Amino acid sequence: MFTNKSSIPFEKKIISLILLCSTIILHSCGQTSNYNNINNSTNMDTTNSKASNPYYSHEDTSKINISNDEWKKVLPPDVYEVARLKGTERAFSGKLWDFTGKGTYYCAACGNPLFRSDAKFASSCGWPSFFEQMSDNSVVYQRDNTYGMQRTEALCGRCGGHLGHLFDDGPKPTGKRYCMNSVALDFTPYSVNAEAQGNNIDTITLGGGCYWCVEAVYENLMGVLNVESGFSGGKTINPTYEDVCSGSTLHAEVVQITFDNSITSIDEILKVFFTVHDPTQLNRQGADVGTQYRSVIFYRNDEQKSAATSIVKQLNDEKVYKQAIVTQVNKFTTFYRASDEHQHYYQNNKFQGYCRMVIQPKLEKFEKVFKKRLKKF
Ligand SMILES: [Zn+2]
Repeated sequence: MFTNKSSIPFEKKIISLILLCSTIILHSCGQTSNYNNINNSTNMDTTNSKASNPYYSHEDTSKINISNDEWKKVLPPDVYEVARLKGTERAFSGKLWDFTGKGTYYCAACGNPLFRSDAKFASSCGWPSFFEQMSDNSVVYQRDNTYGMQRTEALCGRCGGHLGHLFDDGPKPTGKRYCMNSVALDFTPYSVNAEAQGNNIDTITLGGGCYWCVEAVYENLMGVLNVESGFSGGKTINPTYEDVCSGSTLHAEVVQITFDNSITSIDEILKVFFTVHDPTQLNRQGADVGTQYRSVIFYRNDEQKSAATSIVKQLNDEKVYKQAIVTQVNKFTTFYRASDEHQHYYQNNKFQGYCRMVIQPKLEKFEKVFKKRLKKF
C-alpha cells in the first residue's frame, strides 16, 4: 500500500471547515423589494399542472419557442410569473431553499434537467443554490442590467424561462452560485425518476485500484449523478478502511456510481474505467499492491454484465494492452460506504502528495480523452 494514502491530512479538515463557514455567511442575491413578490406555492407536487402542460418533458431536448400567451395557458400562475415575467419569489418563502432530498431538479415550465441534488449547497440567501449545472445546455445566460445592478441572468436552456441569477461567490469546486427561484424548479427523487423514465437511472460498482483516483475521475463525467467510495466483494460485514487495507477481508476498494442513462451510458462508464486504470495488473495499481486494489466490475443486471464482458473481449481481441486483461466481472452483492473523510478525497486534498503524484495524472489523462464529456465547472 502507498504509505501516504493511509493518513488523512489536516488540510482536509481545514477545507471542510471553510466550506461549512461559507454556507453560513449571508449571501445577498441582490434581489430587492423592487421585484415582484410571488405568492409562493412551490411545486413539490406538480402532477396536475404538468399533466396539462404539453411542453413538459424530461426526455425531449428540442428547444421551445412559443409566446407568453401560450405559456400563460399551460403554466400555473406562480410558475408563469417567474419563468415568463422574470419575477422573484420572496427569500425563504420557497419550499426548496433548504430542501436536501436526493434527486434531480428540472425546469418547472418545460421539464428540462437542470441540476443534480449533489450540486446543491446550503446557502443562507433564502433561495435554492447550486454550484454546478447538470450539463452544458441545462442553463444559459444573459446580461441583466435591471434595477441598477449588473448581474448574470440564468435561463432554462430549453425553454428560455427565467430561473434566477448566477454569481461568483459559491463554494468549491466551481466557486459559482446559481441562485434559483424554488418556483422555477421541479424536484423529482431518483427513485421516482427511475420508474418514470423507464429506469434511466442506473448504478454500477467498479474497482480500479485506489478509490480516491477512480472517484475523482467519475465526479467529472457528464451524466454521473453520484459517486461514493467504499468496499465490495469481501467477506467481513461493515469493514473499516484499516480492515480492508490488511487484505484479510478480501474486499476491493470500489466506487459506486449512479448515472443517468439519458446523458451517459454503461458503455461510456466502462470506457472511462478502462482508460484510467491498468486492467492488466493483477491485484495492484502501480505502488498500491494487494487484493483490495484488484480490477473488478460488480454488475447489477444483465445489461451491465453483457457490456462488461463485451468490452473486455473487444480490448483483448484488439490487443489494446500488451498483456491480457485480468479484470474480474462479478455479480454485485453488497457495498459498504467508506467513512466521510474518504469521500470526495481528491477535491478536498488536491495539494496532498498522493493526490498530486497519483491521482492528478489519471485525471489529466481522463480529461484529455473525454474532453467533450466533462462537466462544466
Ligand atoms: Zn425550461
